[in-house]
Amino acid sequence: MSDPFARLNTLLKHQHVIDSVDGLLGWDEQVNLPPESADFRAEQMATMAKISHAAACDPEVGKLLTELESQVDALDEDRRAVVREARKDYDEVTRLPEEFVEEKARHSSAAYHAWHEARAARDFPAYAPFITKHIELAKKEADLQGWGDRPYDYMIDQHDPGFTAAKIDALFAELKAGLVPLVREIDAASANDGPSPFRGFPIGKQREFLEEVTAKLGFNYQRGRIDVSAHPFCSGNGADVRMTTRFQEDEPMDSLFSSIHETGHGLYEQGLRREFHHNALGEHVGMAVHESQSRMWENQVGRSRAFWRFFEPRFRECFHEQLKDVSSEKLYREVNAVRPTLIRVDSDEVHYNLHIILRFEIEQALFAGTLAVTDLPGVWNDKCEELLGRRPQHDSEGVLQDVHWSGGAFGYFPSYCLGNMIAAQNWVKAREALPDLDAEFARGDFSSLLDWTRREIHHHGRKYPTLELVERVTGRALSPQPLLAYLRERYGEIYLQSRGAD
Ligand code: ZN
Repeated sequence: MSDPFARLNTLLKHQHVIDSVDGLLGWDEQVNLPPESADFRAEQMATMAKISHAAACDPEVGKLLTELESQVDALDEDRRAVVREARKDYDEVTRLPEEFVEEKARHSSAAYHAWHEARAARDFPAYAPFITKHIELAKKEADLQGWGDRPYDYMIDQHDPGFTAAKIDALFAELKAGLVPLVREIDAASANDGPSPFRGFPIGKQREFLEEVTAKLGFNYQRGRIDVSAHPFCSGNGADVRMTTRFQEDEPMDSLFSSIHETGHGLYEQGLRREFHHNALGEHVGMAVHESQSRMWENQVGRSRAFWRFFEPRFRECFHEQLKDVSSEKLYREVNAVRPTLIRVDSDEVHYNLHIILRFEIEQALFAGTLAVTDLPGVWNDKCEELLGRRPQHDSEGVLQDVHWSGGAFGYFPSYCLGNMIAAQNWVKAREALPDLDAEFARGDFSSLLDWTRREIHHHGRKYPTLELVERVTGRALSPQPLLAYLRERYGEIYLQSRGAD
């Protein structure tokens, strides 16, 4: 008689490999695809989606899970976690009829094109029916999954299991209360900073520098690569991580920090235990933790003085001409530049969370039925004024700016802000555990921090749900206070304390 646990793993591995091929096609679509090959790629991906769905719904998986659940007491803690999470995935995928999955995919594709056109034409009414239909589909999906009375909670659970709208609402309310006054203070202090002085940074050198930085942080280029795409992302898994960035000669900080960000995602993937990539012990736990890894390397590490103590000489060597009139203090201020914008993806670290709170409040109201889709632009703009202190002139810099809703990805935005909270809370703990971090960074050694994240976070995969993992790592429940304290410390030192002229 074969071992049901071993057999389950064989089937999960099969599924994992299929999904990874699908992911590679998706990466290639964004990085390499010749313009007239899009139709064929769509066909390839639709076929892969069907194969993947069939593997995920394989009735043998269901039978094995039932068998293993009947002898759960005989399983150790790790195996129990594998069975528990595989059951969750299996039930979710088998509860959705094939026609529903196809309808949603078709609608997402149509809505993506509609969003693209509407954004270019600044025409929200043309896009509104697509959002309405996506909300209907989300509610139907929640119903099919047994979350009929809590569709928004279901959507949140898809990205970050264990969180609910009520839990996020409480965290965000506390964050907002502390953040809005802090942002106002920093805005006032940075108001006269003017635009970035950086111009004409050769792209070849930018690429060389960021590859040096990301390798130094610990990214293994023997099991991953970085390419160029319109929007930076990180895909693949620890066996083969595909990151992207984008380059502009006048925006060297954009390519550098987006690369460090994606490297944080890549380091998490590379830190998941390779022998378990196909099951809960080697899969990421959710988007918020994923984002906490990218944000920590990007912000807590990459924007720190210690980091620049090491990298500044090399940065100047690469861009001698461009930096000859830029003092060290000015460079550090540019690394941490605060320039409010209405566009989330261009936002600095200080304002970023307000962009997310805005979207969360809107999604909550849409799902509660207290906000009609047709009223979205006005409410969006009002909230911009309330939170960011400025109002969009048109919907392309307002409600039409994000791609997420065109794919029906409601409940995704909160992950970004939760990731910032988790990053800040982990950071407190990491600094307690590793008191020499600043000195290590200043000599270009990032290994003890990476090892700490590997041990404390990556090693567990999806074994513990996010909120439990945060408590295990940091010894306390998730709170926005460490994030507020970090922002006040980092930006207060630059903007709110009187410093000598730079
Ligand atoms: Zn990210």
